[in-house]
Amino acid sequence: VLSVRGLVKLYGDAVVLRDVSFDVGPGQAVVLVGGSGSGKSTLLRCLNLLETVDDGEILLAGEEITDPRVNADRIRRRIGVVFQAYNLFPHLTVLQNVTLAPVLVHRVPRAAARDRARGLLTRIGLADKLDVYPDRLSGGQQQRLAIVRALATGPDLLLLDEITSALDPELVGEVLDLVGELKRDGLPMVLATHEMAFAREIADEVLVLDGGTVIERGAPRRVLDDPHEERTRRFLARLR
Ligand code: ATP
Ligand code: MG
Repeated sequence: VLSVRGLVKLYGDAVVLRDVSFDVGPGQAVVLVGGSGSGKSTLLRCLNLLETVDDGEILLAGEEITDPRVNADRIRRRIGVVFQAYNLFPHLTVLQNVTLAPVLVHRVPRAAARDRARGLLTRIGLADKLDVYPDRLSGGQQQRLAIVRALATGPDLLLLDEITSALDPELVGEVLDLVGELKRDGLPMVLATHEMAFAREIADEVLVLDGGTVIERGAPRRVLDDPHEERTRRFLARLR
């Protein structure tokens, strides 16, 4: 689905990503962990072409999307993204939030977009809130709505950047449960998270980033229960 080869990203003189390589196969979840400033968000933004890369390449379904001739908008339409802070449209209702991109960007007929949106919203328990505005929802409901909105266009890949870190602890579970369901549905994803229990459950591969370098990688149990790198151990110890 996705292949990242020798990715390098600079901000001025600062190397923010250094020779990052990994693959996401069909239905797989790759989880990025690492301290603040280690480069997780930058990497996710590169995958979505919100950043230009300085070296290396990214292939989405075999197409080199880092080729400057590629139309970034066309690629972004195939990738669903959810960030930490809810980026819902506050002036649109719950239903309109979900149907906007399918109708305007993907030219899905309005009735079909509404049908699909109703199905998705029913799945996350918001069927009775179609016509309310996002500020009337709980934080967990808002974040689940943001996820469902990212799914409304049928993306090939989902990118999630610390989608639970702004939530009250009691709301984290319902959001992570939804992500777990999507993984079981076979949606490939790359996510950054500080929820190690969740990483252990969902990840096919965990990448530990430190200073823009992947210092350790592997199956979640291997990396999280038996880290080989001292820096990984220190990072995990700080979370406890
Ligand atoms: P956190 O866990 O706090 O979200 P992160 O792992 O997501 O951290 P990034 O946001 O990717 O880290 O930042 C990686 C590095 O890039 C940091 O040193 C940061 O200061 C730097 N950086 C991020 N965005 C920019 C920018 N637009 N211009 C310059 N430097 C930036
Ligand atoms: Mg970040």
